[in-house]
Amino acid sequence: MKYKAYNLHNYETVPQISQLNPEYKEAIEVVGRVLPFKTNNYVVNELINWNNLPADPVFTLNFPRKEMLLKKQYNDVLRLIKSGCPDELLKNKIGQIRMDLNPNTAGQKHNVPVMEQQKLQGIQHKYRETVLFFPAHGQTCHAYCTFCFRWPQFSGMNNFKFSMHEAGLFYKYLKTKLKVTDVLFTGGDPLVMSASALIAYIEPLLGKEFAHIRTIRLGTKSLAYWPYRFLTDNDSDELLAFFEKVVKSGKNLTIQAHFNHPAELSTEAVKHAIARIRNTGSQIRTQSPLLGKINDHPAIWAEMWRKQVDLGCIPYYMFVARDTGAKSFFELPLEKCWQIYRKAYSSVSGTCRTVRGPSMSTYAGKIQILGITEINNEKHFVLRFLQGRNPDWVDIPFFAKYDPEATWFNQLKPSFGHEKFFFENDSHTHKHLNKYDINFDFE
Ligand SMILES: *Cc1c(COP(=O)(O)O)cnc(C)c1O
Ligand code: SF4
Repeated sequence: MKYKAYNLHNYETVPQISQLNPEYKEAIEVVGRVLPFKTNNYVVNELINWNNLPADPVFTLNFPRKEMLLKKQYNDVLRLIKSGCPDELLKNKIGQIRMDLNPNTAGQKHNVPVMEQQKLQGIQHKYRETVLFFPAHGQTCHAYCTFCFRWPQFSGMNNFKFSMHEAGLFYKYLKTKLKVTDVLFTGGDPLVMSASALIAYIEPLLGKEFAHIRTIRLGTKSLAYWPYRFLTDNDSDELLAFFEKVVKSGKNLTIQAHFNHPAELSTEAVKHAIARIRNTGSQIRTQSPLLGKINDHPAIWAEMWRKQVDLGCIPYYMFVARDTGAKSFFELPLEKCWQIYRKAYSSVSGTCRTVRGPSMSTYAGKIQILGITEINNEKHFVLRFLQGRNPDWVDIPFFAKYDPEATWFNQLKPSFGHEKFFFENDSHTHKHLNKYDINFDFE
């Protein structure tokens, strides 16, 4: 199958578009200028059920909807488009709205390590064992998710872009960081790169001096958005042969696959692609945020985990949608997130319960909502770190005052009248925060 992208400039050539209510087209024109918009022929022909609009989950996942901006934001942009004003004016307005959409969520730019007085712009090192690498050619995707927290990277907001043309410093950094066991290639989607480009990045890591690197991970949505990446692209066979080579070298090759809805697991193409990857000895772990109007029901998650395990994948993370971009469209109260998780988790067997969540990726770390409990007639959230900027924080239960409306960690207050959460509190922690902020000098 040949890949064909659709975006703001050619979406009217999507065959199904001509039947759409003009309201949808207007939303594409308006919202698609503020948030990145891209889809493709597989998504449009095999995943979206066009008889089920606007509720169809994959349509909502790819196509801009009016409600993804605030009314005022939407109307301001619409008015400027209609007025035929100078481009400059429209551009300024769009820039302004983007800045209001919290483009640098969770302080990502603070995770960039420094070596030899040089910032390693294409790397994020936040958790001791795992380094993220953003290869310069992998900073796009086969389609864009409307909820994506990396959206500034695709909108030309360059100052928030992490990428690195020169990989030499990356290897130099890794050589000295003996506690790092995992390298996670991410983006965008590193699998938009050609096999030869990806191999050039990964192959050096198979050398002796990287014996401490045990797992190469590829964070990708290509199984959901373009499974033909593993089937019929020119270099599909070369890609899979390389996966096998990594596994034979004694390291794990793990696909961190991003699936948001069981529909993405239902085509012959995705099933075949998963089977081919598994045949190389690679593992597939799955993750997704919990999204209003897309997957906000326990039965959807139970079905998704069940299908994944049936296909030989390992459920891994359920995230709370990040506080950025079209967050207000997708957001759910934390209480609801936990209830969906609990109901889904309790309805599947232990083989699906490798999943952990709902988890919020905050500045301090990944915070899991363990539940809601009552102490002395007062309700509290029980939380813990699944990952922490300081590894000592991980797995310690802590409490936040129950708040039925809270949708993100920064809205929560510590329980029992405490002023701060334990990790904000002690001087030891602060020393760590500064230390990690400045040079990520994990011994
Ligand atoms: C989630 C995440 C990782 C990977 O964490 P694991 O728990 O090892 O899967 C690494 N770095 C950052 C910044 C992350 O958000
Ligand atoms: S595939 Fe991932 S990086 Fe790409 S748009 Fe979707 S969420 Fe964002």
